[in-house]
Amino acid sequence: MYGVLEFITPMMPAERPRYLMGVGTPEDLIEAVGRGIDMFDCVMPTRNGRTGGVFTSRGKLNIRNARFTLDEGPLDPECGCSVCRRYSRAYLRHLYMAGEMNAATLISHHNLTFYLDSMRRVRQSIKSGSFARFRKEYLDKLRENEDQDG
Ligand SMILES: [Zn+2]
Repeated sequence: MYGVLEFITPMMPAERPRYLMGVGTPEDLIEAVGRGIDMFDCVMPTRNGRTGGVFTSRGKLNIRNARFTLDEGPLDPECGCSVCRRYSRAYLRHLYMAGEMNAATLISHHNLTFYLDSMRRVRQSIKSGSFARFRKEYLDKLRENEDQDG
């Protein structure tokens, strides 16, 4: 995908929005912006939210993982969303394991906040001319605690 983007974006008008449909992971968004893409749409934040997948500033977590059973921390310590301010990983895991629909709704809410905040930060870094530094720092941090069990 990255190779195709590098090939086609120079042929696309720079003054028009460039839309990449169905993409993607936080890493894919940053890498696609770096190759000239402006807009995305994707089910990942909600599809993952429904199955316990949590996107965080330090990589993806799976709330079903037993290591979160007693974890009183928020989904993402760097997130200011209403879910992270109110509920612990342990509580959200409990809801998920009990089959409570609220778990999917709350995790999806957090994931959407994470995606929107990431893209807000992308726009800010482009405006301030620091996208290259932002991209490296964002991607390095994303890979820090990447869950092996996804
Ligand atoms: Zn959050």
